[in-house]
Parts: sequence; structure tokens; C-alpha cells
Amino acid sequence: MAEGTETESRKLLGRLREEMASEAAGQERLDRITHLIADSIHREVCSIYLFRDEDTLELCATEGLSPEAVHKTRMRMGEGLVGRVAKYGKVVNTADAPSAKGFRYMPETGEERYSSFLGVPVQRLGQKLGVLVVQSREAREFSADEVYALEVVAMVLAEMAELGAFVGEGAALSPLHQQSLLLRGGPAQEGSAEGHVWLHEPRVVVTNPIAEDPHRERERLNEAVEELRVGVDKMLEISQGGDKEQLQVLEAYRMFANSKGWMRRMEEDIALGLSAEAAVEKEQSQARARMGQVTDPYLRERLADLDDLSNRLLRILTGQGNGNGADLPPDPILVARNIGPGDLLEYGRSLKGIVLEEGSVGSHATIVARALAIPLVVHVGRITTEALNGDHILVDGDNGVVHLRPEDTVVSAFRDKVAMEAKAQERYASIRETPTVTQDGARINMVMNAGLMADLPSLNNSGAEGVGLFRTELQFLIRNQMPKRSELVTQYKRVLDAAGEKRVVFRTLDIGSDKVLPYMKHVAEPNPALGWRAIRVGLDKRGVMRMQLQALIRAADGRPLTIMFPFVAQADEFREARWEVKKTIERERRLGHVLPETLEVGAMLETPSLAFAPQKFFDEVGFISIGGNDLKQFFFAADRENELVRRRYDTLNVSFLTFIERIVERCAISDTPLSFCGEDAGRPVEALCLAAMGIRTLSMRPASIGPVKSLLLRSNLQDVRKIIADARHRGEQSVRPAVMDWLRTQS
Ligand code: PEP
Ligand code: MG
Repeated sequence: MAEGTETESRKLLGRLREEMASEAAGQERLDRITHLIADSIHREVCSIYLFRDEDTLELCATEGLSPEAVHKTRMRMGEGLVGRVAKYGKVVNTADAPSAKGFRYMPETGEERYSSFLGVPVQRLGQKLGVLVVQSREAREFSADEVYALEVVAMVLAEMAELGAFVGEGAALSPLHQQSLLLRGGPAQEGSAEGHVWLHEPRVVVTNPIAEDPHRERERLNEAVEELRVGVDKMLEISQGGDKEQLQVLEAYRMFANSKGWMRRMEEDIALGLSAEAAVEKEQSQARARMGQVTDPYLRERLADLDDLSNRLLRILTGQGNGNGADLPPDPILVARNIGPGDLLEYGRSLKGIVLEEGSVGSHATIVARALAIPLVVHVGRITTEALNGDHILVDGDNGVVHLRPEDTVVSAFRDKVAMEAKAQERYASIRETPTVTQDGARINMVMNAGLMADLPSLNNSGAEGVGLFRTELQFLIRNQMPKRSELVTQYKRVLDAAGEKRVVFRTLDIGSDKVLPYMKHVAEPNPALGWRAIRVGLDKRGVMRMQLQALIRAADGRPLTIMFPFVAQADEFREARWEVKKTIERERRLGHVLPETLEVGAMLETPSLAFAPQKFFDEVGFISIGGNDLKQFFFAADRENELVRRRYDTLNVSFLTFIERIVERCAISDTPLSFCGEDAGRPVEALCLAAMGIRTLSMRPASIGPVKSLLLRSNLQDVRKIIADARHRGEQSVRPAVMDWLRTQS
């Protein structure tokens, strides 16, 4: 970079620092800054646009454009050149602005006189704050050095905005992180929670973005990077031979920590007048902006690694960080970009709610949040940049809505909703011990789904009559290495101890598809949901299957044992797996272990193929459980994890209900016990229709037992059957409207 540019830039940043330290009000400061910048870079125009709301930019100060346009000229995100800079977070540099794509003429500004245009985004760690623009009459593009220098200035402006330097009158100058916001995401665990924000990774505040002595700043940066490198090397040493994925991340850390390009860019930022921490943050902000545009999952992960590494470096430089002594507020709502299941388990039930910027409905963190019954909303854009530790926050896990710093009216409406839910919970508690018998005398067995130790207390609290599905893979998923057999024995024992007389259906390891064990070699598959998963993996990796079967037999220690194999697509798969059970029993007998008092071995029906297996299979199998989540995705060919299609087909679609009825009939011929354990079993209207189709055991999340039971107790299944039959007869696609109409007449 040219010597002159560096000196000029440092001079300008020095003057900005004086501005920051001055007593001036926000508007005055902005006015002076636009003047300073225009003067320093010898251009006629400098303007600062800030967001007045999420979608609208407002001209807040200008040197060179008509002063009457200030606070009057506004544009939407994406509108005109300024809007384009904001929308894409990218520089626009043109010698001939009026002919540039997207140019919009704003007559009140008088900008028609200016030909060249350079717009730079003002953004901080992914948060868009505004746009800095310089213009001039002379038709020439700005040089790379000039662009770079202006990016550095924009970075300082972003830090100043964050520190509240531009607070003044009007929406565009209102302080950051203080407005009420309604943010929408995806519901991942229902329930409502009110509390205060607890940032999993508290934001680092850079109070000194500008530095006078570049040598000193370079030294500070080098020392901090050295400390970071040593730290990463140490972590790598400790992790050798351990979890492969973790190693991969650490290798990526090391690569970045030693990256010459990264260092060079930060040193250039420092040469222009930034402090070491501001230089780190500038590069981090740009990496985040790139992250928003990259779709390739591998590249996104690497950018996320760089982001994590930058956070570590910032913590070293500023001495701020996780261990900053702050205490969890009494009603913490965890806010994070993403969180691993292990970290989440550590917080445990102390959390009232969780809001994730990324996350997904099928992620391990979601599984844990569900087990702990903590309301969770995922895909909440901007939450980590908008929320501050301690902010008041409302989480509506039913609708996937988050209110940050809510207005009083929103708070009272929300509290009314929570109070109504609490009343309903009281009602459910009063029927906890009541057996579920419908009005026409059908006895429905209400059991629960579980998978973590955290689920066990629910066995008593919810009134569940047993565990209809124990997802054993969860214990494997939340670890960094394959659990030992002895550890599994201890865990399964604890489950059986907690269950006492109640039956527990242990499902063998259901991995593959969306459930990837971090320590097992990952096989890239074009369609993982249709790939090497569940019993297919078990039959190909007999060692793991045997280890788990042994653990189950030993944990039962003479008590009854129920084992279920997932994802059986044809009879022989089940037969082979059952043969493995027999052999394991024999081996355990020879080894002198006590054998289970009784042994039931069943299969999950999750692919349509099994519903059409020879009748002999239905005679042989100990029991069948319909895995509705998978069965539905294969029945409708609609990926259960894909937001675009996963809600497209109704469980109460006549085709699907007819199919379920057919399975009920086939099981009835051979008296094969049948249950349903997908999520739909926990949705009251769906559960009612499943019961009407003849399902007598429903396995669901513990929190769903109350609402489902309450509806079943009030209902006559014969009536529901008739409603369904009539809707079918009329040729309706889904029976839902008819059933809902009927339910309304019942209440
Ligand atoms: C199912 O597919 O319905 C099921 C219960 O199994 P999982 O959700 O664990 O795949
Ligand atoms: Mg399944």
C-alpha cells in the first residue's frame, strides 16, 4: 500500500478518534465526520446512511449533497446503489454512477452533478448498520488503496455506532440494541418462556478501534497470534488419537492461525490506523459477510472456523471472554449461533428457553432440548448480533417467534398465553393417573419416547405407562467417542431401574441419515435418508450390534427385556437381526450371565415395503411399531428435514390413513401387537385419528401425553371413524377439515 495512503489514513483515523472522545451529540458528530472524510480524501461528497429500520436506509449526514435531503432521503434495502451496497454487504465502485446498474436518481440530493461513486458497507460482525459513500465530479474509479482505506474508516464508524457515538433524534439515530424486535424462526421445541438473554458466546466489545502506534499494535497482534498458535497446538496434541471431526476443526484452526494472508490483511489494517483488535474484527466482519453468501457447506464450515478463531484472538487481545465472571441470570434464555449437545447438557434444565441463529429441527442440540422440554426456536436470523446479555426476551416455541426487548402490550399478551397454558397443564396433571379409555370403551396405552437420562423423571411426571421408544443412539450421538460396553450396561440399567415395572422398548442403534456419529467414518452418500442407516449399518457392522445386545442383556440382569430393530425394510433383515439376538443370548449364557426373564424382539415399520411383507413375517415378529416420521417421508416422498416439503403433506391425508388402517388389519390377522411412535402420536387430532384407525398404543413425547389423553377421554372413536369414512366417501384429500368441524361441535 502506498506510503501516502497510510499516513493519510492514520491522520484521518486520529481525527476520528478525537471526534469520538468529544462531547458532541450524535448528529453533530456525524456532520463533522462527513466533512472530515471528504476533506481528507479530497472528494466533494461524503455521506453516511444509517438504517432507520430493518429495511430502510436514511441519509443521516452529508458533506456535498443538499443539506435539505438529510433525514429525508430514504431507500429500501437493494434500492439504488446505496441500497445495493447494504443488501449485498459489498463495495460498489464506479466512475459513472448514473449509468451503473440499479442507479436511482434522488432529485432532492442534487447528486446528479457527481459522476464517480464509492459505497462501502458499514457493518459489524454480520450486523448491517449503514453505508458510507464518497462521490466526486471527476469520472474515475477509486483505486484499490482508496477503497481499502475507506473500508477501514467504515469499520471505525461501525465500532463508533456500536459504542453509541451517533445517538440522536429520530429512528435512524436511535441507540442500537434497544428497539423491540420481533424475530421469526422455526419451531423446534414447543412451549413458551420469558426470561433474559444469556449469550453462549458473549460479544467482545472493542472500545479502542483506533491506535496511534502501528508498531505497538503489530507487536500486540503478533504476541496474541503466537499465544493463539501455542494454544491450538496444545489442543491438537491433547486431541491426537481422539475424535476425528474435532481434529479436523483444530487442523483448520492451525491452518488459519498460520495463514500469511490473514496476518497480512490484519497488518495492513493496522498500518492504516486500526488497533490490533479492530483489525481482527474487520477481517472477521468480512468473513461473516462472505459466510452469508457461500452455500457450499464445506466452505461455510471453514468460514465458521475462522470466525471461532477470530473470537479466540479477540478474547486474548481484550482479556474479555466466557470466563468474565458474569452469572447466569435467574431465568436465562440461551442465545447462540449454534450449540453442541454436550454444552447444552451442561446448562441442563437451568435454561428457560433457547434461541439459535442456525440450528435445525433434526440437530443433536434439538434432540437434547426436546428431552429437557426447553422451548427452542431455530433459524432466528440476526439474534446473536441484536441481543445483548440481560435483554428481556420472550420465546414462543409453538410458533417459532422471538420477541426481543418486547413492548409492554406484547409482554402482557404473552403472559396471558402462558397463564392459559399453565391452566391446561393443571388439567392434565389431574388426569395423570386416569387410564385412557375413550367414550366408547377403547383402552389406549399411552407410552413415551425417550433417549437421555434427562428423560427418565418424565416417566412418573407425565403419567406414561412405559417407554414405547428408547432411542439408544442419543447416548452415542452426544459423545465424542464410542461408548464402552460397560458404560452402556450402566446406562441401560439406570433406565430399567427408573422404569420399575413399566415396559421399556429399547431401539437398537439408529444411525445414519441425519444422525451421524462424529467418531465413525463418514460415508458420503447421495441420499443419506435412503442410504446406509439403522439396521443396515447394524447388519454390516455386527461387532457394534453385538456389543449393544450384550449390554442390554446384562443390564436387564434377569428382568424382562424388549428390543426393537429400526428401519426394517424386508423380513430377512429382521430375521438376521433376531438370529444375532439368539446367538448373543447363547454366548451370554455360556459366559454365565443371568438371562432376561422374558425377551420380546420387534421391528419398526418405517418403509412402506414392510407393510406388504408376507403374512409369515407378521406371525414371526414379536411386535411392530410404526415409525411415522420416516414412514410418512417415504410414503409421500417428502424429506422430513427439508423445510420446503416437510409440511406439505398432511398425516390426515386419506391415502396415509388408509395405509395405516391396512397395517392395523395385517397385524390383527396374526394378533401382532402394534404401536405408533412417530411425532404424530403426540399431536392430539392426529392421535385421535390413529386411534380411530385401530392403533391402541401411542408413544410420544412426555409433554404430549396430557393433551392427547385429554382429547381421547372425551372422544368416541366410532364417531370419529364415521367422520373419516364419510370424508373418504366424499373424495376429500384430507379428513382434517371434517374432523376439526366435528370436534368444534363436540366442545
Ligand atoms: C420415526 O421415524 O417415526 C421414529 C420414531 O424414529 P426417528 O424419528 O428416531 O427416526
Ligand atoms: Mg425413524
